[in-house]
Amino acid sequence: TLEPLYIITPTYRRPEQIPELTRMSHTLMLVKNIHWLVIEDAAVATKQVTRLLERTGLKFEHLTAPMPEKYKQKKGAKPRGVSNRNRGLQWIRANATNGVFYFADDDNTYDIALFDEIRKTKRVSMFPVGLCTKFGLSSPIIKNGKFVGFYDGWIAGRKFPVDMAGFAVSVKFLLQRPNATMPFKAGYEEDGFLKSLVPFEPKDIEFLADNCTKVLAWHTQTKKNEPSAPLNMKLYGETNLV
Ligand code: UDP
Ligand code: MN
Repeated sequence: TLEPLYIITPTYRRPEQIPELTRMSHTLMLVKNIHWLVIEDAAVATKQVTRLLERTGLKFEHLTAPMPEKYKQKKGAKPRGVSNRNRGLQWIRANATNGVFYFADDDNTYDIALFDEIRKTKRVSMFPVGLCTKFGLSSPIIKNGKFVGFYDGWIAGRKFPVDMAGFAVSVKFLLQRPNATMPFKAGYEEDGFLKSLVPFEPKDIEFLADNCTKVLAWHTQTKKNEPSAPLNMKLYGETNLV
């Protein structure tokens, strides 16, 4: 029997929200035994998102987890998607017993082969992510079958300089670590979370995607569209021409 794959997706209201979630849902619809945790950075769940989720036929949870005011007010880089992901972890702790989870932002691009790969995760797995930073790639480096370090355009003193889309974790492994959490620290979310999984060291990493030779996840970004009046009205997956 296939163990469940929990996909933790932070999302927030903006003109691109419905198209991003449409594209992502169509990827997930091609994968077996997915449980999609869609967590909105909002006080109230968006009804168009609920309707979209219902139409997919996927097993899903639609939760909310607003970014705390103190981070929202902050100038400069904000910890985007952190309260959402921690809410996802909270849901997993309360409801899941086995399988694997993966943090999948709503705007990235996922090869369906990725999901068969991450199902293999026993502890924490890692794999390359394309279109990351100025280097164009974020990945563990495997030389002659041995892990020698990380390739990433922004090392910044991180122990695990990886992208959010570049790792997956076993549910059982998480449940054995009740204090694991993602810090509200812009740029250090992945590193902080992975370091909170004590005991967990680079030697424990499982390398996927043919020993990190294949790119199955892409950190794509969508051009920002004009947030015009219709966002508050009907044009949010529905036209407003009557
Ligand atoms: N996000 C969020 N609230 C925000 C900004 C972003 O919940 O105020 C979500 C967003 O939908 C995405 C994740 O957090 O799933 C990462 O944000 P973004 O894609 O903007 O980050 P980037 O790709 O630029 O690192
Ligand atoms: Mn993004």
